Amino acid sequence: MARKTRPESFEGSLVALALGDSLGATMEGYRSHDLLTAYEEGRYDPWQMQVALWTDDTAMTVATAQSVAACNGMMGEDLSKRYLVWYRTSGRGIGRATLRAMERLLNGVPWEEAGETGQWAAGNGVAMRVAPVGLFHAPGLVGLAEDVNICGIITHRNEEAINAALAVAWVVAEAASGNLKISNCVDKLLQYMPACRTMDSIARAAEMAADRMPATKALPELGLGGMAYETVASAFFCWLRNPEDIVDVIVTSVLGAGDADTRAAIAGSMAGAYLGAESLPVRWTRQLDGHRALVALSQRLYKATVDAWAKA
Ligand SMILES: [Mg+2]
Repeated sequence: MARKTRPESFEGSLVALALGDSLGATMEGYRSHDLLTAYEEGRYDPWQMQVALWTDDTAMTVATAQSVAACNGMMGEDLSKRYLVWYRTSGRGIGRATLRAMERLLNGVPWEEAGETGQWAAGNGVAMRVAPVGLFHAPGLVGLAEDVNICGIITHRNEEAINAALAVAWVVAEAASGNLKISNCVDKLLQYMPACRTMDSIARAAEMAADRMPATKALPELGLGGMAYETVASAFFCWLRNPEDIVDVIVTSVLGAGDADTRAAIAGSMAGAYLGAESLPVRWTRQLDGHRALVALSQRLYKATVDAWAKA
């Protein structure tokens, strides 16, 4: 029987991801931790942050959610076409591996072979857009790894990029089914996942969060580059250090420097699935570009998910 599936997690995850991306958009690539230090010392008011326009993180998540909702599941062919439409019409904030994969798709390479390989393929591009795949698996984890792989290889044919995305999708799926407990979530995730660099980093991030390490110390140690094992582990740290307070999760992620928008998008997708849409401050959501459309999309994805699993 399918598990409980919480509609508030669908809306919470997608909207919090977009908020993290929009709040982090003007901070991407920032190297200094001055603002984070000020925030930790109570000298920085998070409400002064600017909710800017979304970037690639939200745009590709929206494309993923639309595809899953339209196909009642993960279909690589449909999904790759939707990514390509976004690339041709906007492509704002696109990453290096995704750019090269989109060029291959444009040149007629099949979606299964379009994804980037090699060291630059270990980036964040799959983890940042995978939340809808996790939400689709709230009713059951069967097939989750396969679906994350289909979503991922379109742009990143890289084990670490796919594993990092699977870790995020697992959290979102467990949270959206109401099964997630913060106290044992990383232990259960370690049992579920293959051994990999990302899981080593996530386990370290969980220790740092439990030890109350200051974010100004933890985030540089976890890594500020754009590799998936850095960004996803630092998103876990920002989430696990204060999982009941989504504003703190997103603000810490944004002020953490490095790939700020993607870290905040990923942390937001997990925290939003866990806490639900009610946790999101109206003073942010009312400024968010396309907020109503995101809510409507989350409702379509929820209905497609429940319908697909009822037939399974
Ligand atoms: Mg971005």
